[in-house]
Amino acid sequence: MTTPLAIITGGAQGIGRATTELLLNEGWRVAALDRDAEAVAELDEAFPDATLLAMVVDVSDELQVKEAFHHLTGWQQENYKTTGFDLLVNNAGLADPECGPIENLSLKDWRRWQESHLTGAFLCTRAAVPGLRERRGAIVNIASTRALQSEPHCESYAAAKGGLLSMTHALAVSLGPEIRVNAICPGWIETGPWQKAQSRAEPEHRDIDRRQHPVGRIGEPADVAATVAFLASDKAGFITGQHISVDGGMTKKMIYAD
Ligand code: NAD
Repeated sequence: MTTPLAIITGGAQGIGRATTELLLNEGWRVAALDRDAEAVAELDEAFPDATLLAMVVDVSDELQVKEAFHHLTGWQQENYKTTGFDLLVNNAGLADPECGPIENLSLKDWRRWQESHLTGAFLCTRAAVPGLRERRGAIVNIASTRALQSEPHCESYAAAKGGLLSMTHALAVSLGPEIRVNAICPGWIETGPWQKAQSRAEPEHRDIDRRQHPVGRIGEPADVAATVAFLASDKAGFITGQHISVDGGMTKKMIYAD
């Protein structure tokens, strides 16, 4: 059997990094695309064997995405004499949801969220589809519970993530039966320096944040990575066009102010 290959955008840090690590540890080959050169170098160092291809790519840039897929195809053929992909995880994007009051939001800033989340997912999906079709692969889009509910001043992020959910069901209908397409809506996931290296004294969330979750804790990148692995597997073979909230139950909790 051919070793499966996953492409993970934003794969050098946070949720993307946890997904990269999980899949590598489960025997996949992984191409991690991330625009942060320092994080890419660090990832490359952590996995020096030939099962990881870590590339510095801004996924919202059409030419960079085209060149990255060209390089990936060459890498696969040269090293493994194989073609095709098994999984694309559209995870990259500006993770900070706050854009400030709508009346002060510049068009340039509005576009920063749309480009990194939506345009990036479009460009990578377009580039990956022929290879995914070849291996009857899967796409997992990392959206957010903010596609479903809101705090104030997150319009651009919410719109981009809502767009990603709509793109998920549209793609599932267009690309089936060869390719399944699903989305994950993470809730609060603790990433950042504390999660990565204990370099801060305190985690970024407080005790009260933890207690308000029905599961009694904040999410970890590994929670999302495990859901990606499930959606990519044959166990999820009858699931397409769906989104799964990985949020410790928060979107099912009714909250009214006293
Ligand atoms: P993160 O900032 O730790 O990691 C995001 C990675 O994406 C970074 O390595 C960054 O360099 C990369 N990236 C950003 N824009 C890019 C671009 N244009 N091209 C290539 N790489 C790019 O963030 P995270 O918390 O791990 O978030 C990952 C995804 O999960 C994001 O889409 C985010 O919106 C979503 N999400 C996160 C949470 C959370 O609580 N952490 C909650 C809901 C959704």
